[in-house]
Amino acid sequence: MGARSVTTILTVTLLLGGTVAQAAEVNLYSARKEALIKPLLDKFTTQTGIKVNLVTAKADALLKRLESEGRNSPADVLLTVDAGRLHRARHAGVLQAVKSDRLAADIPAAYRDPEGYWYGLSLRARTILYVKGKVDPKELVSYESLSNPKWKKRICIRSSNNIYNQSLVASLVAANGEQKTEAWAKGLVANMARSPKGGDRDQIKAAAAGQCDLAVVNTYYYAKMLHAKKDPAQQAAANKMGIVWPNQSNRGAHVNVSGAAVTAAAKNRDNAIKLIEFLASAEAQEWYAQVNYEFPVRPGTPISDTLSGWGAFKADTLNLSALGQNNAKALRLMDRADWK
Ligand code: FE
Repeated sequence: MGARSVTTILTVTLLLGGTVAQAAEVNLYSARKEALIKPLLDKFTTQTGIKVNLVTAKADALLKRLESEGRNSPADVLLTVDAGRLHRARHAGVLQAVKSDRLAADIPAAYRDPEGYWYGLSLRARTILYVKGKVDPKELVSYESLSNPKWKKRICIRSSNNIYNQSLVASLVAANGEQKTEAWAKGLVANMARSPKGGDRDQIKAAAAGQCDLAVVNTYYYAKMLHAKKDPAQQAAANKMGIVWPNQSNRGAHVNVSGAAVTAAAKNRDNAIKLIEFLASAEAQEWYAQVNYEFPVRPGTPISDTLSGWGAFKADTLNLSALGQNNAKALRLMDRADWK
């Protein structure tokens, strides 16, 4: 290649670079499905003139992609679920810390990384459902009570390789320490009605079908099944279940977030921050939480009727970065407890 071609390539690259900046855009990698996010992104573009280029994929695939693209990643923002996973992304080196007075004001401290590497945008509880008529919900005061021998062969819960369970166990490590939590996990494994399989919805279906009396699930799956008008079987299964808010007399129910972060490679950093600020704004919060039956992170935002129908509950105030910090311990103890 001659010197002239190199110059040409450089010129083209510089021109493209200039075009990108002028076009006012932001590149979003989203583990959330397009339907859960696109209408909001359109609104953001209308308000700010910033175009959003959306790439959606599974959460772990997106993280791998960010890692392999490294500095060359076109992504400016990562949108994904679970604080444990956001923590993992931070420690994989693919995120950068950002400070924003608006984000600090709009998002309670427990739901964002203390150093600004990620910000929670919607909240879900991982809680216990019971088959109505078979279980007195008063018996289910806490996650800790799931290891009580009275639940022998009565609990459905998915596998230990699922990040939601890892984060739940990490919250127990934070509250009770590793040793106690390992003993608890052994008790829980002894109480499992079957070897873990399927997702959260499958635990509800199994309980409704008589395979177990308790199911550990994220709240939005339960809400979505209650509203599954096109799938009467799912709706019927969910209708057989009641919900419990555990640990109301102490730390509160375990909660987790979907959240957003600015990537380490971000070329549109300011636009990335603007997008996250928009997603934490009052109007975006209401829509974003409603469409997936989640709780908003922003205080004072209205919640859906289904969620408010379950009654107010006390949520654990643990800073969710602790879920990531305790993830390795959680994994090890789940393994020792033979939680498949
Ligand atoms: Fe989920």
